[in-house]
Amino acid sequence: MTKTAELTSLIVDKLKDSLPKENFIALHEPHFSGNEWKYVKECLDTGWVSSVGKYVDLFEQMLSDYTGVQHAIAVGNGTAALHASLLIAGVGPGEEVLIPSLSFIATANAVSYCGAIPHFVDVEELTLGMDPRKLADYLKEITEERYNGCYNRSTGRRISAVVVMHTFGHPVDLEPIVEVCDRYGLTLIEDAAESLGSYYKGKHTGNWGKLSAVSFNGNKTITTGGGGAILTNDPNLAKQVKHITTTAKVPHQWEFYHDQIGYNYRLPNINAALGCAQLEQLPDFIHKKRSLASMYHEAFREIPGVTSFKEADFACSNYWLNALVFDQEYRACREIFLNQTNSQGIMTRPVWVPLHKLEIYSACPAMDLSYTNDLSTRLVNIPSSVILGHYE
Ligand SMILES: *Cc1c(COP(=O)(O)O)cnc(C)c1O
Repeated sequence: MTKTAELTSLIVDKLKDSLPKENFIALHEPHFSGNEWKYVKECLDTGWVSSVGKYVDLFEQMLSDYTGVQHAIAVGNGTAALHASLLIAGVGPGEEVLIPSLSFIATANAVSYCGAIPHFVDVEELTLGMDPRKLADYLKEITEERYNGCYNRSTGRRISAVVVMHTFGHPVDLEPIVEVCDRYGLTLIEDAAESLGSYYKGKHTGNWGKLSAVSFNGNKTITTGGGGAILTNDPNLAKQVKHITTTAKVPHQWEFYHDQIGYNYRLPNINAALGCAQLEQLPDFIHKKRSLASMYHEAFREIPGVTSFKEADFACSNYWLNALVFDQEYRACREIFLNQTNSQGIMTRPVWVPLHKLEIYSACPAMDLSYTNDLSTRLVNIPSSVILGHYE
């Protein structure tokens, strides 16, 4: 056997030893062990399944209490939450928005829905998220300040916002990014789709962006079936978000008057009911997910050629998805690892193809993305469901 094959077998065996002996282990499956049946049944029994009902308000209040962000507006999915956040932040056609290339497609698509252009930024090893130092150096090099904002000198377009994304739940280094955004007059948005239950310097993610987007898709830490939310500490923005995500209807007892082109992005009551039941269990889920992460760190501590990704010192992560990062000289292990695990019923996945490598986004402006290009060939996600975690 070659060194690569030998090492991969060792890593696959270690993963198998760490997991229950079952025919199939999902990457991240939902966990319903609380009041889900009760709350959803109540929706069915009373007929309040759709756009009106008590659970939407309750879910928004619970989200606000949990995250410490003052306002939460529930919507149909995380992509819609990102879209609405960018619209209300004032991102308009022909503007550029800085986003990490290492992200799920929704981050770039939401920018496109506004008629704006994604502009790709590299990520750093410490967080797997946007690199604040590269961002600062790059903006210094490529922008000029005009009376109404920051402009990209080579494209002539205004750069209006920065979207950071907390990769696999790990918070980006927010403070230096906030500082850069302030210096250049850029609006910060957090794509916190993966980071419910993750904290940066003791404060929940979603508190730094002018607006932040969360997702409750079936594969996320908690789920509403499909769903999302916009978080903001600005009461005025919260009002605007609620308005455009509910068809921009002016409140009136019977009249249908809409004062702008809004969206039907609201979360149905039946999904919010599921969300309330899930949120009640979130602290317990996080505890279990963090204990699973510790187990993986311990299991792979002495295995050569691979590292189990760990949160930075400033972070307390939800460990939504655990990641193994192969050393540069062992990047060839990844394909073998993916083949062996998936064929044995252990679901593992490579990280996303970086967005700048997709045909649809290949012509977008970008900084040097060498770390993104390198990391994206060395990273795999391994099973991370709540059910796999135990209290110590
Ligand atoms: C899941 C996810 C989204 C979108 O959420 P949906 O609810 O699936 O629309 C956006 N960004 C990132 C980084 C995600 O992981």
